[in-house]
Amino acid sequence: MRVLVVEDESSLAELIKEGLEDEGYSIDLAYDGEEGFDLAANEPYDVIVLDIMLPKKDGFEIVRDLRSKGVKTPVLMLTAKSTTEDKVLGLNSGADDYLTKPFSFDELLARIRALLRRSFGEVESIVRISDLELNINTHEVKRSGKPIELTSKEYALLEYLVLNKNKLLSRMDIVEHIYDYSYDYDSNVVDVLVARLRRKIDRGFDEKLIHTVRGVGYMVKE
Ligand code: CA
Repeated sequence: MRVLVVEDESSLAELIKEGLEDEGYSIDLAYDGEEGFDLAANEPYDVIVLDIMLPKKDGFEIVRDLRSKGVKTPVLMLTAKSTTEDKVLGLNSGADDYLTKPFSFDELLARIRALLRRSFGEVESIVRISDLELNINTHEVKRSGKPIELTSKEYALLEYLVLNKNKLLSRMDIVEHIYDYSYDYDSNVVDVLVARLRRKIDRGFDEKLIHTVRGVGYMVKE
């Protein structure tokens, strides 16, 4: 999953980026409101973490302008003070949730995961397809009850495929959601990653879950 963090306090922004990358997310950072808005409006993020007080364009304006352009990406707002006014204004502008500074990283992570689950229509933290199960909180993966060890990139790919089950995903869709902005697009990398994941998920099972759609991309289905 790919997350945009718009935060002008660079040390906090870096801390969030490192923590989320450890959890397998791909992160882009923006340090002012204009850059944040441009990225949010043009790149396919799965969640946006948005500070309110920002140079050039504040968080309220950003979320309002995104919603009026039809960008529906879930937004988690960071508020400096826990005043009701800020929260109400944030939610009214189109934010989906808010978090008051200072916050613990675990709470940030829990809220991001909740927004992701909601946006993919999943309410449980365990997502199942056939005999495969994915715990999107702990990243544990099992098939037929047996644990499967994945690297963080393999996990990110599997999570993206499973949350979009029955949907055909192009290599570009996959790259845009599991790599960050600095990544140079190379469709071959996706093919190699899918091949590795397939060996761990499908090898030895009669029912294959990862399907190739020739010339187009990949799909997970029962
Ligand atoms: Ca700020």
